[in-house]
Amino acid sequence: MLQLLAQDAKKSELEPFNKFIGRFRDKLAYLFRERIDANAANLKRGIPPFIFQEVFRQQPQAASIQKKYGGRGANPAEILAVLEAASYESLALSLILGINGALFLEPLARMGSESLKQKVFNRFINEGTTGGLMITEPDYGTDALSMKSYWEPTPGGYHVNGLKHWAGLTGWADYWLITARGKRSDGSLSRDLSFFVCDSSCPEQRIVVEEYFNNLGLYIIPYGRNVIDVQLPFDHKLEPNGSGVNGLMDMLHRSRMRFPGMALGYLKRLLEEAVSHCNERKVGKCKLNKYDQVQRRLARMQAYVTICSAMCKHAAELSSIHNNLTGEGLIANVHKTILSDYMQDAAQSLLHLTGAKGFKQDHIAGRSITDSRPFQIFEGSNDVIYVQIADKFIKEMRKKNQSNLYIFLTSHELTTLSAGYFKEYLDVSLSESLPQRKLVDLGKLLSCVAVADKTLLLGESGYNKALVAAALDVLSEDIAQHSAAYRNKPIATYHDVAGQSWLDCVDNLGG
Ligand SMILES: Cc1cc2nc3c(=O)[nH]c(=O)nc-3n(C[C@H](O)[C@H](O)[C@H](O)COP(=O)(O)OP(=O)(O)OC[C@H]3O[C@@H](n4cnc5c(N)ncnc54)[C@H](O)[C@@H]3O)c2cc1C
Repeated sequence: MLQLLAQDAKKSELEPFNKFIGRFRDKLAYLFRERIDANAANLKRGIPPFIFQEVFRQQPQAASIQKKYGGRGANPAEILAVLEAASYESLALSLILGINGALFLEPLARMGSESLKQKVFNRFINEGTTGGLMITEPDYGTDALSMKSYWEPTPGGYHVNGLKHWAGLTGWADYWLITARGKRSDGSLSRDLSFFVCDSSCPEQRIVVEEYFNNLGLYIIPYGRNVIDVQLPFDHKLEPNGSGVNGLMDMLHRSRMRFPGMALGYLKRLLEEAVSHCNERKVGKCKLNKYDQVQRRLARMQAYVTICSAMCKHAAELSSIHNNLTGEGLIANVHKTILSDYMQDAAQSLLHLTGAKGFKQDHIAGRSITDSRPFQIFEGSNDVIYVQIADKFIKEMRKKNQSNLYIFLTSHELTTLSAGYFKEYLDVSLSESLPQRKLVDLGKLLSCVAVADKTLLLGESGYNKALVAAALDVLSEDIAQHSAAYRNKPIATYHDVAGQSWLDCVDNLGG
């Protein structure tokens, strides 16, 4: 196995990317359609080891590693194309590759010591090794910066202690990137956080899995609760460029710009499944695809593919490991929120169109609902990130002393091209302070305008004009909806009233 991997490594160094990605796609299709029945396999947790080995023998992870360490060069366009190829066959597999790349290899490339990089990258290239990231703690998810995991110096390096949960590849990854706060001499924890690498092959660095979770979807990937009490050598502490929080932002923003890769193959596959079903299924006198509402769903799914392609192009141009993305939070957040919403919405449409037939754990439609749902939650809950998007635009407007949203967007770098298309919905004066739910609506609206801009740019670069126009139609529909929600006055409130029953309101109950 090791020798085979080494041979493949040499091969991939020489192989042009188009050849590599074609071979990778073919191999995945063979593995997930011919060697196993992907639908039936989804009834069980985990993945047959030979599938995993075969996938990793193709060296998809080499895309995330620089040439000087034996990789393909960490070119974001290649990384995104690998993720796309994987998610066409299996969203969970793509997430595994995404975790390895965006949450381990890429941050290591940016912040790791030379000695650590040499050792770790070599194992990824030659042994099909895996890595994951542990940030979240049972009491600190959205509020991750308040984490309680801590580190303290020791004569030989560092002691890191804490409790982490929901890290993808729990109990499986060979390497872990973990975050912790420094413990001061008085026992308090520093505000900043630090990154460390644990090597599961060293007993003193091993993380103990206390419990495995029965995750609702993504059955291939193990999740659980982990106890960390490890001793690490000096070179296992990463050194971000600036503060640890800056390093975290740089990492998360790059990772959010890997969402388009994971989303694109998956969205294309769901669209193809939906089209093929609607071309065959006859309901009443005609095929499903003749119904207008069915066409609406298909058009929407196709628009998601177009918009996601535009975001891939954008991420490919911006998110190289050579760029510091700490300050790119706004567009990174747009990538994450909008595309994860599209993934879930496309799954809902496919299930709707396939009807009861799709409501099975071993059907791609049913499975897609649960597999794509957590993308709206992990790496920042969408509700929270939409608010951040709105807040950022509002802050910039205030700085420029501008209260009219449309005028502001015509000169904003993310919306200059597209603002004019949606003037009737944007020509509003923003009020001084908005309730959080309105910020969510506004964040969604602004995200749509920003992705419309990227979609127009895709069109200018030669993408099919009819597809671009259709995507803008869908965005226009969404912008109208978000604009209505944003302008809608009533603010419904939850009332803590117990014991109310409709039965108390009818007078014809039997005596
Ligand atoms: C499948 C899956 C994979 C994951 N992979 C990883 C991984 O690899 N590594 C890792 O470290 N973690 C991972 N996570 C953890 C993930 O990042 C956290 O679940 C996420 O950050 C949310 O934290 P929480 O679950 O504690 O929810 P909470 O922080 O309790 O938030 C729950 C909900 O409360 C609401 N909410 C929270 N704060 C606000 C606010 N300020 N305003 C309004 N509403 C708010 C939102 O609706 C939010 O969705 C994963 C989780 C899942 C489900």
